[in-house]
Amino acid sequence: MLGKQLALMLASKFAEIFGKHPDLIASAPGRVNLIGEHVDFLDGFVLPFAISDVTTVAISKNSSKVIRVASIQKGGEIKSVDFSKIAPMTGEPWTRYPIGVLWALGNEALSNGLDILVDGRVPLGAGLSSSAALECAVATAVNELYGLNLSLPELARIAQKGENVYVGMPCGIMDQSVSLMATQGNALLLDTRDLSTEQIPFDIAQLGLELLVIDTQVHHALVDGGYAERRASCEKAVADLGITSLRDISVSEFEARKSELDAKTYIRAYHGVTEMKRVLDAVVLLKSGDFVGFGEIVTLAHQSLRDNYTVSCPELDLAADTANKFGALGARMIGGGFGGSAIALIKARDSELIKSEIRGAFMASKFKAPRFFSALPSQGAAVIN
Ligand code: ADP
Ligand code: MG
Repeated sequence: MLGKQLALMLASKFAEIFGKHPDLIASAPGRVNLIGEHVDFLDGFVLPFAISDVTTVAISKNSSKVIRVASIQKGGEIKSVDFSKIAPMTGEPWTRYPIGVLWALGNEALSNGLDILVDGRVPLGAGLSSSAALECAVATAVNELYGLNLSLPELARIAQKGENVYVGMPCGIMDQSVSLMATQGNALLLDTRDLSTEQIPFDIAQLGLELLVIDTQVHHALVDGGYAERRASCEKAVADLGITSLRDISVSEFEARKSELDAKTYIRAYHGVTEMKRVLDAVVLLKSGDFVGFGEIVTLAHQSLRDNYTVSCPELDLAADTANKFGALGARMIGGGFGGSAIALIKARDSELIKSEIRGAFMASKFKAPRFFSALPSQGAAVIN
């Protein structure tokens, strides 16, 4: 649905729930990350784009010292939080995302009470970052409502702080950055060290290509301490090698110093070092219009996530392998791993074939039926009116 239409619907729903018109409506999109996985906490490069699905918020000041939030996806029921009760990791879990942003913005955002209605069209929990979409829509709305004039990187840091501290989720900076800074038809090369960006042409629709998202709908428990353990390995590699960041060492230098690291530290960090190089190689290929070469790098990233970082699972491997077998240019798991989604860059005309082959392969393996989404590079957060 178009932004304006969504905004009109949301304004009337807001009037129904809060009994007045909203002061402002803003939206922010979800994202997919093309390449650069598990490196946004390592000062690495990532290459996400914003999808066309957005979360929209309607907002208005109220005259009390109370934040009232409601979400259409949560039945539209109002949840109220008094200013004096605002504290990290308290309140109904979903409300922590919008309220965390206000908390991270601090006094300026909490000078007045606020009423906020959320309508999220980014599928929840599918690896498309509905959480960042929600945070960034709120951050964009409040920035405009109070004329805070915060820059997009500042808003990204604030939204991330809200999620890290108030929600209690140790996410990197990628999701919020791309939700705020993306532009239509482009992927965003983001340097997570300083949040500098470059827009990289990725107008796949014009080339008859499509980015297929395959949500395996499974979430395996982490048997061995999962993300924290892997992140700690990368940090140990940095310390053992006496460098500031894994991005400051080339692949060949890293390989030459292999004997300074224990086997597990080496293999985890090897993913990080090679993944950052893959991002930069991918950008060169995209700039020269070589989507075949680009697809091959995406598949190499999957192999590294599977074999070196070991965060894949049978469902993700089957999704990526089946897509490749039936004509994808490249495919890989995305996000944290152990379930969630995979992406495949495919020719639009192969879409039905590939989806049906994946469905069939999942059924034959007795896996849960997957969900499919199609993603096109779209505009970042915006104030609608
Ligand atoms: P992802 O970001 O991949 O979609 P997360 O688990 O990080 O998955 O974030 C999903 C959570 O964000 C939901 O469980 C919910 O708490 C919150 N959320 C996102 N969108 C909405 C929405 N429209 N309404 C209410 N809560 C939402
Ligand atoms: Mg999230």
